[in-house]
Amino acid sequence: MLMKRRIAIVGAGVSGLTCGVLFAERGYRTAIFAKETGQQTTSGAAAALWFPYDAEPAEKVITWALQTYKVLVDLTKNSRSGVSIIELRQFSRTSEIQIPEWAIPLGASVIPTVPAFKGGFTLKVPLMDTTIYLDHLAKRFFDAGGEIHGDVKFEKLEDVSPVFDLVINCAGIGARELVQDIDLEPHRGQVAIVPKIDNLSCAIVCDDPPLMYAIPRASDCVFGGTNELSDNLDADPKSTSRIVAECSRVLKIANPKILAERIGLRPFRKSGVCLERDCLPDGRTVIHNYGHGGSGFTLSWGCAQKVFELAEELPGQRR
Ligand SMILES: Cc1cc2nc3c(=O)[nH]c(=O)nc-3n(C[C@H](O)[C@H](O)[C@H](O)COP(=O)(O)OP(=O)(O)OC[C@H]3O[C@@H](n4cnc5c(N)ncnc54)[C@H](O)[C@@H]3O)c2cc1C
Repeated sequence: MLMKRRIAIVGAGVSGLTCGVLFAERGYRTAIFAKETGQQTTSGAAAALWFPYDAEPAEKVITWALQTYKVLVDLTKNSRSGVSIIELRQFSRTSEIQIPEWAIPLGASVIPTVPAFKGGFTLKVPLMDTTIYLDHLAKRFFDAGGEIHGDVKFEKLEDVSPVFDLVINCAGIGARELVQDIDLEPHRGQVAIVPKIDNLSCAIVCDDPPLMYAIPRASDCVFGGTNELSDNLDADPKSTSRIVAECSRVLKIANPKILAERIGLRPFRKSGVCLERDCLPDGRTVIHNYGHGGSGFTLSWGCAQKVFELAEELPGQRR
């Protein structure tokens, strides 16, 4: 009798959930195990705009990002997914901005300079409201028969129960300890959540220092940001003041009230996203999918599709 392969995914951030949806909806018996779930994860702290940023290697990142773009555009048809299309205005303070080559087929065009900046371009991109999108992914996963086990911390991947014959590692920055990957760096990001800003319907982003973005969501607005090498998960009041002052200056508004501060560690991997198949000491196969830096949402579906291909290539694969 043909046996169904049982799959364990470690991690319930956007990478783990997206892989979970893909496998469960294609008939695999899939369970997610994670220390943190939902809003507690790094994914819960993200902005989360589709845009390749702070992830390597460039060529693969663009391919995965463009694959993800298509899936996210499709998801905008479902009003409950938390995905919408927003106009992004990307600015530079230091020089006239170059439109990246990959952005041209997506319709990017130069926009007139505004006083705070030197140059910019505009592009329509998917925006995921993490307060809705992560739950949407979890619901799709449950509906397809998946299970999520929270509050489970593994010391090593071999600790995943032997009833699972394939393990997928989506541990984000947690992979530093889980698989002893010293190539991972915590790129700390802090944002301030403020009330909806009148008349702000597009996302304003400037990547040169000081990093600045204002991203309107359904019921609030995300002001950012920071990107520093640090493990500190405590809110830094000085950073919050700096973020709110800079966003308010650019938007020409009075400093708004701060509803919340969110901090997350972008899992940046110096040698690039780790997306590969390996063997655990007990002989089981593991597929790693971590190290997406500042682009975890942007790469999520492209990477999950690659994980799925790597799983399907396994000898004796059957569903
Ligand atoms: C402020 C900020 C803004 C951002 N903005 C954007 C954006 O606009 N667009 C974008 O694409 N990306 C953005 N990012 C980056 C994005 O958030 C990350 O790339 C993404 O969240 C990584 O997702 P992940 O699922 O790989 O990891 P995580 O969300 O960190 O999830 C990892 C999971 O693994 C679990 N885990 C870890 N170790 C273990 C263990 N030993 N045992 C069990 N479970 C374990 C964790 O509990 C968690 O469930 C932003 C990040 C920050 C901090």
